[in-house]
Amino acid sequence: MAAGRRSADHSLKASSSGGLTSWTLGRLLESGQVDGVIHVGSSDSAGGLFEYVVSETLEEVEERRKSQYYSTSMDQALLSVRGNGRRYAIVGVPCFISASRRVCQQDPELGRQIVFFVGIVCGHLKSQFFPESFAWQLGVPPDRLASVDFRVKNADRPAWDYDFAAVDNHGERYQRRNLDLLGANWGHGALQPEACNFCDDIFAETADVVFGDAWMPDYQDDWRGTNVLVSRSRDIDLLLEEGVRAGEITLDDVDPDDAAASQAGNFRHRRVGLSVRLADDIGKGLSVPTKRVAPGSESVPLPRRMLIRQRRRMSRVSLVAFARARKSGDLSDYTRPMRRAILRYKVIDKLGRRLARR
Ligand SMILES: Cc1cc2nc3c(=O)[nH]c(=O)nc-3n(C[C@H](O)[C@H](O)[C@H](O)COP(=O)(O)OP(=O)(O)OC[C@H]3O[C@@H](n4cnc5c(N)ncnc54)[C@H](O)[C@@H]3O)c2cc1C
Repeated sequence: MAAGRRSADHSLKASSSGGLTSWTLGRLLESGQVDGVIHVGSSDSAGGLFEYVVSETLEEVEERRKSQYYSTSMDQALLSVRGNGRRYAIVGVPCFISASRRVCQQDPELGRQIVFFVGIVCGHLKSQFFPESFAWQLGVPPDRLASVDFRVKNADRPAWDYDFAAVDNHGERYQRRNLDLLGANWGHGALQPEACNFCDDIFAETADVVFGDAWMPDYQDDWRGTNVLVSRSRDIDLLLEEGVRAGEITLDDVDPDDAAASQAGNFRHRRVGLSVRLADDIGKGLSVPTKRVAPGSESVPLPRRMLIRQRRRMSRVSLVAFARARKSGDLSDYTRPMRRAILRYKVIDKLGRRLARR
């Protein structure tokens, strides 16, 4: 496990963290190990901001950077390359990487073509409403929204304290501190798809290499952004080692326990939280997938169980309320119930902390 970034500071603003995901994809392309990259970039088709696209030049890979907190589908991109005899790297959050591995197992044609699986650490995915909800808070309603940038770096602030920007259909740009927007706190689960409530994979365990944010004391205050990464492939190891030797990237070894601790909330959600959610659904007679944690296996104090349930409720409330707001054209149809749900979450959290101190 390592932490690092691209050495050229000027190239870091266009990346979310240390830019090593796109750097690695670029090197795979330039070294001829792949002919193209299947990843998420801006959408050309009407009706969506982002989609899975196929990049075949370094310029395209460099252009299509940054984290896209958005629900997409990879089927059309896969179909567009299937059978063309070229080799690809695919990029995705953990569920997309394990799904593409399965597709490649079942479809020998794609199995021969997709030769690198590049993962992105994931806290949870967001629905297509997520950028709309942020842009609307900046004064750009969904029908006037042209594009967004989820992660605008600010040289005067730590890496985690970035801005969100939206551009309307007249080309006007609006920008605000991310943390000042309702729904920006990942712990509130705003506009999170229900499927993420059943996920137990954070570091894209079936990927050849996975990149995330180094939210660790030694790195998080550096506005340029730093990646944490795990390579599980000798080819990727060699590529990274060459990059270090050439001075293109810097890498430090990091303690896996420190890296895991930096994603502690994420692990709680997918272990303790998951065991509670599975037990809850079984109790309601619903079917649940088999996961690495058994339903109800964790001994969870009542306030934490209440917190886990409230978080799930918040995701549900946010999705229903935003759909209502879109229909009514009134943003407060989303913000009002969401603020109420967050307040309740905070009260439960406070109560839990107070009881834990006793
Ligand atoms: C939904 C989501 C949740 C995340 N949650 C966490 C978290 O909890 N903890 C954490 O440490 N990191 C998380 N990340 C990862 C983090 O935000 C950065 O994406 C990662 O550190 C890579 O940064 P980079 O500078 O190396 O990438 P860049 O150089 O900016 O390149 C990003 C590459 O990833 C591709 N890409 C971006 N979004 C997607 C997507 N949705 N699907 C497929 N390809 C995509 C781009 O096309 C580009 O090729 C999350 C990312 C996403 C998309």
